[in-house]
Amino acid sequence: MKKLEIHIALREARRTHEMTQVALAKSLGIRQSAISMFESGRHDALSQEKIVAMAEMLEVDLTSLRLGKRGPTGPTVLKYCPIDGCPSNIPYVVRGDIVFMPTLSRATAGQSTICRFCSEIMLDACPNTDCGTELNGGAFCEACRQPYVTVTSSPVGQPAEWADEERGRILELRGMFELISEAPAKENRS
Ligand SMILES: [Zn+2]
Ligand SMILES: [Zn+2]
Repeated sequence: MKKLEIHIALREARRTHEMTQVALAKSLGIRQSAISMFESGRHDALSQEKIVAMAEMLEVDLTSLRLGKRGPTGPTVLKYCPIDGCPSNIPYVVRGDIVFMPTLSRATAGQSTICRFCSEIMLDACPNTDCGTELNGGAFCEACRQPYVTVTSSPVGQPAEWADEERGRILELRGMFELISEAPAKENRS
C-alpha cells in the first residue's frame, strides 16, 4: 500500500484539529503562505525542524510516513540485463564464440528493476531457473556454466571484428545515455 505523503497527512491532521493555516502558522512562528505552499506539495517551503514541530502539534507520527523524496529502501543486490542486444552487455570473443559480459548494477532486492537502456526486467541470479545461483561478476554462472546473456543473433562476418564494432557502438550509445541523464530537466532559454 502506498504511504500517505507528508504534506497530505499534515493537512488532513490540521483539518481534523479544526485549525486554520493562520492559527497553525502563528503557533509555529511562521508565515501562513509557507504552510499553504507546504500543504500543496512544496516540501521545501518549510524547514525540517518546522515540519517536525508541526507534526508534534498535530499529533502526526512522522516515523510512519515517507520523509523526503525517496521511500524506504530495502537491501540491495546486484542485477544485470539478460538481453544480448542491450548496451549494458559487452560482447567479447572467447575461443571463437561471442560471449557477453554483463554490467552489474545495484538495485533493491525483491523488486523488479527495469534496465535503463532497453527497459527489460533485470535479473539478480543465474537465468537457468533450475540453478538460480547468485551472480559472480563474470560472463558465466559458476554452478551450471550457463552464460548470463544468451546470444540470440549470430554475428555477421568474423566474430572478433563484429565484437570490436559492437563494443564501439555500445560505447557510443552509452555516451548518449549519459548525456541524456545528465541533461537538465528544464530547458534553459536565454
Ligand atoms: Zn538492457
Ligand atoms: Zn547457474
